Amino acid sequence: MPIFYECQRCAACCRWPGQVRIEDSEINPIANYLGLTSANFVEGHTRLRSDRKGLALNEKPNGECAFLESGKCSIQAVKPQQCRDFPNLWRNPGKDALCEATPVQMEAEEYWDRVSTATGRSVESLKKRP
Ligand code: SF4
Ligand code: SF4
Repeated sequence: MPIFYECQRCAACCRWPGQVRIEDSEINPIANYLGLTSANFVEGHTRLRSDRKGLALNEKPNGECAFLESGKCSIQAVKPQQCRDFPNLWRNPGKDALCEATPVQMEAEEYWDRVSTATGRSVESLKKRP
């Protein structure tokens, strides 16, 4: 039976250094949520990814995500897909031990429903993933 990882909202994954990628389609929703124009959001809150092929959210000097406030995501309702996909659709070798998500074994159909709810992706699209 598949294992679903229940996030415990410990925010460790928002603290470890790395890139929080945002796709072009995610710019407007986040900018609107913050009451900013897209241009002002991009200018003030993002940077080029290290491969220069897109944008990532800014980090604080200590490496944690700039949108982590008081231990919580301040853009939870519109957070990037990369954030929604963790920890069920990707893992971070070397950092996984810091993730407090609870592994729960369940029937396949419940598993797909839970991953769909957590990620915002349809069950159909999840089942087509490699
Ligand atoms: S956008 Fe939110 S969920 Fe994603 S890393 Fe930043 S604080 Fe964490
Ligand atoms: S995914 Fe893991 S590391 Fe991130 S907030 Fe949830 S429990 Fe914590």
